[in-house]
Amino acid sequence: MTKETFTFETEVGKLLDIVARSLYSHKEIFLRELISNASDACDRLRYAALTEPDLIEGDGEFKITLEADTEKRVLSVSDNGIGMNRDDLTATLGTIARSGTQAFVDQLGEGGDDKDKNLAMIGQFGVGFYSAFMVADKVEVLTRKAGEDKAWLWSSDGRGEYTIEEAERDARGTTVTVHLIEDEKEFVDPERVRHIVNSHSDHVEIPVMLAGPEKEEKLNSASALWTRSKSEIKDEQYKEFYHHVSHSFDEPWLTIHNQVEGVLSYTNLLFIPSMRPIDLFSPERKMHVKLYVKRVFITDDSEGIIPAYLRFLRGVVDSEDLSLNISRETFQHDPKITKIRSGLVKRVLSELKKKADKAPDEYKIFWENFGAVLKEGLYEDTANRDAILPMCRFHSTRGDDLISLDDYIAGMKDGQEAIYTISGDNLDSIRQSPQLEGFKAKGIEVLLLDDSVDDFWIPAIGQYQDKPFKSVTQGGADLSNIKDESDKPEQDKPNAADDTEIDALIAALKVALGDQVKDVRSSERLTDSAVCLVADEGDLDIRLEQMLRQHNQLQEGMGSKRILEINPSHPTIKRMATFAKQDGQAIDALEDTAHLLFDQARLLEGETIDDAAAFARRLSSVIEKGLG
Ligand code: ADP
Ligand code: MG
Repeated sequence: MTKETFTFETEVGKLLDIVARSLYSHKEIFLRELISNASDACDRLRYAALTEPDLIEGDGEFKITLEADTEKRVLSVSDNGIGMNRDDLTATLGTIARSGTQAFVDQLGEGGDDKDKNLAMIGQFGVGFYSAFMVADKVEVLTRKAGEDKAWLWSSDGRGEYTIEEAERDARGTTVTVHLIEDEKEFVDPERVRHIVNSHSDHVEIPVMLAGPEKEEKLNSASALWTRSKSEIKDEQYKEFYHHVSHSFDEPWLTIHNQVEGVLSYTNLLFIPSMRPIDLFSPERKMHVKLYVKRVFITDDSEGIIPAYLRFLRGVVDSEDLSLNISRETFQHDPKITKIRSGLVKRVLSELKKKADKAPDEYKIFWENFGAVLKEGLYEDTANRDAILPMCRFHSTRGDDLISLDDYIAGMKDGQEAIYTISGDNLDSIRQSPQLEGFKAKGIEVLLLDDSVDDFWIPAIGQYQDKPFKSVTQGGADLSNIKDESDKPEQDKPNAADDTEIDALIAALKVALGDQVKDVRSSERLTDSAVCLVADEGDLDIRLEQMLRQHNQLQEGMGSKRILEINPSHPTIKRMATFAKQDGQAIDALEDTAHLLFDQARLLEGETIDDAAAFARRLSSVIEKGLG
């Protein structure tokens, strides 16, 4: 058989460049990754053997063997797991099948030579197998798939290409041989290897053996960590296990380990990361909790045991009471799974609540990382909505601190009926919105919503503690019932144009703008700006419409007309109002200014101007008149 040469997928190529270049301070994690792959391979075979026992006939004892050849500077990791055939090899070692790869590689690029940043990202994404190229100038994979006769040798120096050829292997399984570069020869030192396995892979459930001249030496405790009792497990061990299941370097923000006994017994060892994983917002919303049944790994596609809005969780769930025959395809509909799921959700939410109550500063870290994800639960999990809502935190116009809805309600003004909100892409620009002016002047707090998920749960929920949510960019703002607390005495306030003048101006603006606006009216919510746009009561909120448009969810030409609100106390408006009261020519003169006002309001909303040429012409003409 001939040797075939393949080119790495572009992303892998880029990844390998970065991996090789980054002066990794934790190079030893390559061994953790290889052991983790070997252990996964055993898990997968054990699962396959549930339905096809022949696959493990003659060799049912899974193990991972390390061999270090000091002279040749070669370290190998062997397993008797599922192995790979030629198709598996091309599909897995040469591509990155995982979702979010492109985004990940792009971000790595951004990190440039910022080693810490790259390191954190490589860690988070779990470069896995490819991390071997941090220490090697050649990696070989000799593998034979369980149930097949042919063996294959994959080989690469990590520089763009790899080869595959037919080979010999006595039994099923995989041997990854790492040819270390001169500088990394420490990794063939048995002492070093012992230490690495001890500190990074101790909890691997399959025995990790170090081959010696006489006999093999077991390096790990090889018992599933989650089955041990809490009191026996040190923080260090939890952390190491977390690194193993999450492929990351950060500390677990929270560790939730329970052995639940009852009609349905199960154990959960779950972690919440302290850093945001890279694929958190990828459209797949993939879960990362592994399901075991009686310590046999079933699946890591854990949709079914963990709802998508808790996808930041990492870890394992193991149950004695599920059938080993449970299939990956149908388990989501298994009533026992549903029960476990609801138990897990309750547990996680109650642990979060404890943190929120007792350690608000720590909770803030969680909230900033994962709040936007947890909020998906407000509309996806109506059963737990009431538990989630009080745990939500918000930015507000009052200050920089995050507040809860209960805090908001406690700070409501006399006469205030609603929980006021404003949404947008980023806090800085939301804070500048003209629609907030009247609220600020009256000391009324407004929640600043900068997550796109807010536009879904608010309409779904509608109210909290009988107080309706109300967007300040939508509908009328009747602030007159709410006591004004601004310090300015009444006479210092800018006096407004008189009503007849304003009415005349409104009429003139309506004529000039025609069907570009739904209505023109005098505003209660403006104090400093001349104009703003608001959505009519039943229409789509302005920010929601913008978001839908960004995501191509709104057809061309769809969308609602807006109401233009004018500030009767603003000098520009007053000036225009005096004009408007006169007839004939004066009204014509208002035409350009009317359009400019409207365009200004659109710009403030972050919208574009429909007719830029007309805008420029009008602006010039107004400037000329002004100078003239
Ligand atoms: P991950 O483990 O997160 O899937 P890796 O880069 O570590 O990513 O490994 C890529 C893939 O290569 C694995 O998903 C698996 O299909 C295959 N693989 C790697 N090592 C082994 C092994 N020892 N036995 C069988 N398959 C393996
Ligand atoms: Mg891996």
